[in-house]
Amino acid sequence: MKHVEFPGGEKVPALGLGTWKMGVGDADEAAQLRALMVGIGKGMTLIDTAEMYGDGRSEQLVAKAIEGQRDRIFVVSKVLPGNASRKGTIKACENSLKNLNTTFIDLYLLHWRGTYPLAETFAGFEDLKAAGKIRHYGVSNFDVDDLDELAAEVPEAQCAANQVQYNLSDRGIEWDLYPRCQKDGVAMMAYCPLGQGRLINNAGLGAIAQKHGVTNAAIALAFTLRLPGMISIPKSSHEKRVLENAAAADIVLDAEDLAALDKLFPPPRKKRSLAMT
Ligand code: NAP
Repeated sequence: MKHVEFPGGEKVPALGLGTWKMGVGDADEAAQLRALMVGIGKGMTLIDTAEMYGDGRSEQLVAKAIEGQRDRIFVVSKVLPGNASRKGTIKACENSLKNLNTTFIDLYLLHWRGTYPLAETFAGFEDLKAAGKIRHYGVSNFDVDDLDELAAEVPEAQCAANQVQYNLSDRGIEWDLYPRCQKDGVAMMAYCPLGQGRLINNAGLGAIAQKHGVTNAAIALAFTLRLPGMISIPKSSHEKRVLENAAAADIVLDAEDLAALDKLFPPPRKKRSLAMT
């Protein structure tokens, strides 16, 4: 498993597990739990969730997956912007801790920018950190101008990560946001790394997948993992697919593969606004 280094030198797995839409509706919860457990078994010991996902039901599913093995899992959750006042952030986190049945969250993110001043949200993050309820904090869906504002408004902020949409079809961050996060020592997390499943059917991926003896999905994920400091969090409710996705951790795309991917999915030639789902 590749790793990404967090502040303090902690090593976090580069390939984790997304959970959006898990634990909700008439989902087969036992199958979803098995999918998460299979991923954990393959070293995908970072799990991404949020208070928003199923109004806490995704966090409740994650609670079941981490039970009895909390210390080997890196749990990421997020506060909704509408809750992100100083007090609201603390309350939201405490609610997430209940859902997750744990005493701490490893990485707590502002899900996207809202109307509360960043200084308020980050004061809440600092309070939570001081209380041992979160270990790291960061942001999601922040573009370069948002990071500039954060630096101006909360210069002391220890922003550990920025979670954004990144996949073969959405490469805009390669232009400026990824280099900026690298320069600032901010880990990046690629969400929708499979383009929500749409990328997998791209015929062009087939030849590269065949060469490596893996599925198209694994190639799409390996593409995101090629970047140092990038964590990728594919979601699947199916064990078999999680195993396919786990294979991405061992793939090294060579120059020929990368040139072929650039042809299929051209890199940005100018600033693109940040893609969001
Ligand atoms: P994704 O991981 O790109 O794609 C998930 C979709 O692909 C699901 O429909 C899944 O179906 C399918 N899939 C997964 N592995 C597959 C495989 N090997 N073969 C075929 N199909 C496969 O999209 P995502 O779930 O939207 O994004 C990943 C995670 O990022 C989320 O779960 C969430 O944790 C996070 N996220 C964060 C934000 C944010 O604003 N911060 C926004 C979106 C997502 P099955 O489940 O049926 O297998």
